[in-house]
Amino acid sequence: MRTKRILIVVMDGLGDRGCEELGWKTPLQYADTPNLDWFTANGSAGVVDIIAPGVRPGSDTAHLSILGYDPYKVYTGRGPFEAAGIGLISKKGDVAFRCNFATVNDRLEITDRRAGRVKTPDTSELVRSLEGLKIEGVECIVREGTEHRAALILRGPGLSADITDADPHDLGPIAISKGRSPEAQFTAGVVNKFVLATYKRLKDHPVNVRRRAAGLPEANIILPRGAGEFPRLEPFPEINSMTAGCVAGVGMIKGICAVCGLDVIDVPPCCSGGTDSDFMSKARTALEALETHEFILMNCKAPDVCGHDGCALSKVDVVRRLDEMAGYIKDNMPEDLVIVFTADHSTPCGTGDHSADPVPMTIYTKGNVIDEAVKFSESGCARGRLGRIRGHDIVRICMDLANRTEKFGA
Ligand code: ZN
Ligand code: ZN
Repeated sequence: MRTKRILIVVMDGLGDRGCEELGWKTPLQYADTPNLDWFTANGSAGVVDIIAPGVRPGSDTAHLSILGYDPYKVYTGRGPFEAAGIGLISKKGDVAFRCNFATVNDRLEITDRRAGRVKTPDTSELVRSLEGLKIEGVECIVREGTEHRAALILRGPGLSADITDADPHDLGPIAISKGRSPEAQFTAGVVNKFVLATYKRLKDHPVNVRRRAAGLPEANIILPRGAGEFPRLEPFPEINSMTAGCVAGVGMIKGICAVCGLDVIDVPPCCSGGTDSDFMSKARTALEALETHEFILMNCKAPDVCGHDGCALSKVDVVRRLDEMAGYIKDNMPEDLVIVFTADHSTPCGTGDHSADPVPMTIYTKGNVIDEAVKFSESGCARGRLGRIRGHDIVRICMDLANRTEKFGA
């Protein structure tokens, strides 16, 4: 049997609930989507509990599940994945943290936990002054994230993530990180010294001199929290014996995929992940990437953004543009492709956050079983023959349709 290639299109936060502005329809039920409907009418559809019924997924745990991992086993906290999300990929033995730039007075009391929501280029310049920082033989690698956020990786022998935060999560004195085991005590000591070192290097940094003069809160300290060890994942390409890549605009998704061993494919700057993202260019990039990879995961962030903003009409508009993208894929996809359209979770406009509602999914490949589902929506896909499955089943079902599975038994 000839093997096929696989493309999974994850439309982030696409699922929804009835929206008042849309006459209590969901954006997918409301919008005209001839191309997504074509895939549904010619393929097999179902709905997916990405992690489990009633579990509200984050985009990180959701993508782990879609890639076939058990997030309860491999998700070691936000630190490592957030670090990966901004391009800091850890190594075995590293401990990763999420951090905030904050403002402290000269008694080291926090007066602003977000340093006036400082952002780049200020944070980039400040981070540069921490390059090469080493404490007790431990490398301290810092990278700026969005706004006041940053990530820290500690790299060196004998570290432990079993420590408390140096961020008190409140105003007032900074917290002292603590640990119990000798490794944890050592790591906590490094974290505490790191915090003081950032204050020493940042307090009179030209960026802060400038901010002081402008009356802005200084970004004069970095406070780490959420310590996590880098998870030991068996790489996706090894588990599934195929070359794999991801096409995404958002750092966090790239980070998750990189941690799972997927090649992160460069996307043009117009594929940012915002609501104005150029879906056509992204689809073109994904189809091109399939020439060198047997598996591609593609993420389009825009519907999630509309859900968080609570804007049903803009979500409808994004759905229409995603449908045009589906049309482009339909016209340009290779013959030997198994393609999935789905979401990583629902982000109902009415609640403005992720929900556990199962998401629609359709799988299409030439010669598959055509079922009764004809409309790509939360309710339309529920009529399909795949019924209600879990996120970690998706890759396995695709693998079988792609003639890539081993027979179990004689
Ligand atoms: Zn998401
Ligand atoms: Zn979201």
